Amino acid sequence: MGIEERYLRVAAEVAKTAQAAGRSPQEVCLVAVSKTVGEDGVAAAFAAGARDFGENRPDQLVPKAAAFPEARWHFIGNIQSRRIHDIVGSASLIHSLYQARHAEKIDKAAAELGKVQDVLIEVNVSGEASKSGVAPDEALDLVRFCEALPQVRVRGLMTMAPQGSPEEARRAFEGLARLAADIRSQLPDDQAAAFTELSMGMSEDWPCAIECGATIVRIGRAIFSDSFQE
Ligand SMILES: *Cc1c(COP(=O)(O)O)cnc(C)c1O
Repeated sequence: MGIEERYLRVAAEVAKTAQAAGRSPQEVCLVAVSKTVGEDGVAAAFAAGARDFGENRPDQLVPKAAAFPEARWHFIGNIQSRRIHDIVGSASLIHSLYQARHAEKIDKAAAELGKVQDVLIEVNVSGEASKSGVAPDEALDLVRFCEALPQVRVRGLMTMAPQGSPEEARRAFEGLARLAADIRSQLPDDQAAAFTELSMGMSEDWPCAIECGATIVRIGRAIFSDSFQE
């Protein structure tokens, strides 16, 4: 199977899973994580209908976003201060914000570029030392900090679940969904209205994430790797 076929199959499964969970397929955005392929791989997925792509390195994000301006580009990687201007210049949504000092720099870069930057707050729900993100009980403070920045708009939360244990992954997804609902209930109406996104679920665990309320799934290997086994 090639990339086009795999993309079509995953997109159909995502829609089916959303429906089976009692949700509308339009509620779940499939982000094709193209970090392991070049522009030819992106072109194959684009031809199959993919319009949302995820990258975790600015060096990949910038040229691919320039080559495919009709697509929406999601930055899902570690943020480094010196690359923030590049990221803001190319990303429609930054999933991986968890430091106030980066939020301030995103605000400044977005002002220079004449845009409002949509962001998600990355939360380390499972508390694993190897994972980045704010602790759950610090997320609301960071959301409030960002709401004071005019060029930054917080759209929701993102997490990476522990790998290898479906039970732990489900706990992390349920935890993120609960935390988002809790934060939303404490925001003023206009901010709550924009705070709608839950980015969670990757190749190995996305069906469970959709059942738990994901509005964005980030899928790489199941689309772009011919050796991925479900
Ligand atoms: C690589 C990556 C993904 C995609 O992972 P797969 O297991 O290949 O689907 C999703 N989210 C983030 C943050 C990633 O770095």
